[in-house]
Amino acid sequence: MGDTLPLPSAKPQTWVDDRDHLESFAKSFDPSARLAVKRSWLWVGGLKTNATTLGRTVYIPEDWSVGAVVRVIPHEVRGHVKQFRYCGLGIHPTLGIFPGMLLLYVWGLLFPILFAWGRYRLELHAETWSWRYHLQQGAYNAEEVRKRAERFAKIVASWAYVKAWPERWAVWGFKRRAEKVIRQSRQ
Ligand SMILES: [Zn+2]
Repeated sequence: MGDTLPLPSAKPQTWVDDRDHLESFAKSFDPSARLAVKRSWLWVGGLKTNATTLGRTVYIPEDWSVGAVVRVIPHEVRGHVKQFRYCGLGIHPTLGIFPGMLLLYVWGLLFPILFAWGRYRLELHAETWSWRYHLQQGAYNAEEVRKRAERFAKIVASWAYVKAWPERWAVWGFKRRAEKVIRQSRQ
């Protein structure tokens, strides 16, 4: 009889099976970026099922597909890792964790509305990069960007983001930005 051992499957089951490739893709947006498995017991509520970026690390639920991770990397790395890098004066995203959080939470204590607006703006900024990248790559067309803008605005306005911004305003802001990105992509 021949070999009875099961052959390793050629297609990765989850992103963890293709982690090295995905990490190189992430590093193409910021060289210090890294991907880590999000252990669900460490996170609460909606955070368990989302990707979350802290400093240079993008935490991703273990069961996500490769495709899902490819789609969020521009948002998480070009958006959020870079935001931490700016808060760390451009030196390193990890240095930005403390000043970034301090800024956001001091705002939050002093002016709750500015905190909410800050969260909304950070997401809008990250999504803008993601749309731009996917349009350039031909992965999304204009109609898909419009749909994603509306869907993501509703998520930002939901409890997943502690109702960061009123839904109507969020949808209006995201749609307006989406049109701008689409226009720029045609120039
Ligand atoms: Zn985000």
